[in-house]
Amino acid sequence: VVEITDLRKSFGSVEVLTNITASIKQGEVVCVIGPSGSGKSTLLRCINLLEQPSGGTVLVDGIDVTDPDCDIDRVRSRMGMVFQQFNLFAHLTVLENCTMAQQVVHKRSKAEAEKVARANLDKVGLADRADAFPAQLSGGQQQRVAIARALSMDPELMLFDEPTSALDPELVGDVLAVMRRLASEGMTMIVVTHEMAFAREVADRVIFMDGGVIVEEGHPERVIGDPQHHRTRTFLKRVL
Ligand code: ATP
Ligand code: MG
Repeated sequence: VVEITDLRKSFGSVEVLTNITASIKQGEVVCVIGPSGSGKSTLLRCINLLEQPSGGTVLVDGIDVTDPDCDIDRVRSRMGMVFQQFNLFAHLTVLENCTMAQQVVHKRSKAEAEKVARANLDKVGLADRADAFPAQLSGGQQQRVAIARALSMDPELMLFDEPTSALDPELVGDVLAVMRRLASEGMTMIVVTHEMAFAREVADRVIFMDGGVIVEEGHPERVIGDPQHHRTRTFLKRVL
């Protein structure tokens, strides 16, 4: 689904991603871990072109998103992105948050979009809050709305950037449960996370980044349970 080759990204003279090569297959759940500033968010943002890579290629379903001629809106419409901050529209209800992009991008009718949105709100356990406004919900509920909104676009791939980092500890579990369920349903997911237990349990593969490079990657039991590289061990000692 995603094929990243020799990806580089610099901000001015500072290179924050150096020759990243990775591929994510259909149905795979890949967790990206690593210290602050290691380039995890930048990597995700290069996949959907929120950042323009400085070099290398990113193929999504065979389409090179770094090609200036590529229809990035079309590629983006197949990727759902969930951020640390929920980015819901405060003046729209939960239901409206989940229907707007469907109507604009997929040209769905209001009724059709609402049907899809309600099904996804049900999936994240919020069917009964469709008419609430974001400010009336807890952080965990807002994040689940953000997930339902992304799912309502029928993405082939979901990108998560520390979706639980801004949440109070007691709200983290509900969001992880939704993500766990998505993974078990076969969704292709790239998840930047500090939740090592989640990565260990749900990921098919863990990528450890440090200083803009992939230091090691592999099965979670290998990378988290038995890291080979000293940088991975140092990082895990700090977070576990
Ligand atoms: P965190 O765990 O704190 O979210 P991260 O691994 O996601 O960290 P990035 O946000 O990808 O790290 O940042 C990687 C490096 O790139 C950092 O040194 C950061 O300061 C730098 N950086 C990110 N975005 C920009 C930008 N728009 N302009 C300049 N430098 C940036
Ligand atoms: Mg980040």
